[in-house]
Amino acid sequence: MISLGCAKNLVDAEIMLGSVLQRGMEITSRAEDADVLVVNTCAFIDSAKEESIEAILEAHQQRGLNKRPDQKLIVSGCMSQRFARELHNELPEVDAFIGLDQVSELGAIVEKILGKRPTLNAEHSTSNSNGSMLDVGRSAFDVHSGNGDFDLAFAETRPTYIPDYDTPRFRLTPAHSAYVKIAEGCNHPCSFCVIPQMRGKHRSRNPESVLAEIRALVGEGVREINLISQDTTYYGMDLWEAKAGPRQPVDSTRGPTLVSLLREIQQIEGEFWVRLLYTHPAHWSDELIETIAECDKVARYIDIPLQHIDESMLGRMRRETSRAHIEDLIHKLRAGMPGVTLRTTFIVGFPGETDVEFETLLDFIRRSRFERLGIFKYSQEEGSRAARMPGQVPAKIKNSRYREAMAMQQSIALDLASEKIGSELKLLVDQPHIARSEADAPDVDARVVLSEPAPVGEFIWRTVKGSRGYDLLA
Ligand code: SF4
Repeated sequence: MISLGCAKNLVDAEIMLGSVLQRGMEITSRAEDADVLVVNTCAFIDSAKEESIEAILEAHQQRGLNKRPDQKLIVSGCMSQRFARELHNELPEVDAFIGLDQVSELGAIVEKILGKRPTLNAEHSTSNSNGSMLDVGRSAFDVHSGNGDFDLAFAETRPTYIPDYDTPRFRLTPAHSAYVKIAEGCNHPCSFCVIPQMRGKHRSRNPESVLAEIRALVGEGVREINLISQDTTYYGMDLWEAKAGPRQPVDSTRGPTLVSLLREIQQIEGEFWVRLLYTHPAHWSDELIETIAECDKVARYIDIPLQHIDESMLGRMRRETSRAHIEDLIHKLRAGMPGVTLRTTFIVGFPGETDVEFETLLDFIRRSRFERLGIFKYSQEEGSRAARMPGQVPAKIKNSRYREAMAMQQSIALDLASEKIGSELKLLVDQPHIARSEADAPDVDARVVLSEPAPVGEFIWRTVKGSRGYDLLA
């Protein structure tokens, strides 16, 4: 399994591996030993698609080099979901493409593709109450006597799948840290984004399912729960009786919400922290801020992609938020959760972005002093509204805006890191000499380098002695 892209895709990879284990197969880390290779692709922006194609071609090449002509190659993930038909024609070396609704069926699909009878294990684990085998269901393909006759039915439909707490899963993250997908899909209309076309409408898991999963993870000794989805703040609102609009603030009087979920998570026994990733500025409410402030298990860390601040740009991006709303919200987040770490992302070079609009963004970055910040160069995504907009910005300008914004953030981040010297921090140890504070999400943020080794997977307290670039030394 080669999984590319974001944590949401990684959870899909974990579910796929869970389904093959459930059917009695084994997972190997040596590609040359495998009967089947899976490349779980990303199609977020062009560079991600290129990386995915390279990974597929390399996997195919390796199977030739390893003299394993019978080894099968399966492609899954966002790129497969979105471009299955095109890829099917252009990459005949791939044995099957599977869609996002099939992740829990990989085991059954592998059996079909290898022409194997289901294993004894599988009969036990997936038989229904009548004792007969469950169907592969909406499988991506139908292999007719090995002639590779694909029925890419999923390629025409938006996915609807959402995992449950008892969905078999083989975690790919370190034992002490886990991602929990609380919802899938997105209802927002951002003009640069094609994710809703790939991942479908927003659909939340029910709170009991999420809580059962978190309880089990904490029971296994997981110390960090990262809640993910495309829009974590919209969690639960699709389950309300009355429809919640795209700017609906989190309001627990109307039905399940992130607020009620966090309050329940706070009640779970054990030492752990829970982190919110991918929140949307349109849905934040005073109630949500107050709840996080009250719940000491919720990390003082907010990931809130803003994408721009100029009023006209926000409108063209169809972000459903105004400059005034965002500025007021940042003020409230900092005032309501003292010491909070804010992570955001901005896009530079969106169609029509003028020098003045870019300067407005730079000024906002300078004044807001975000603790964590990522800059994306706008990528013209086929099928998005923005791709058809006039005023596409030349690559040279995008690059120079990117460099300018990053340089500004770098000096802010270095200052903020040196301000931490002398403070005492609670850290979660990832490796004997590497840890993270609650201000650092896995994979994307800074690290704390430890002078003395510490037990992996445990919380420790250390005093910050210095900083090195974005990292702290303790
Ligand atoms: S909120 Fe906007 S950027 Fe994020 S996934 Fe939804 S449409 Fe895309």
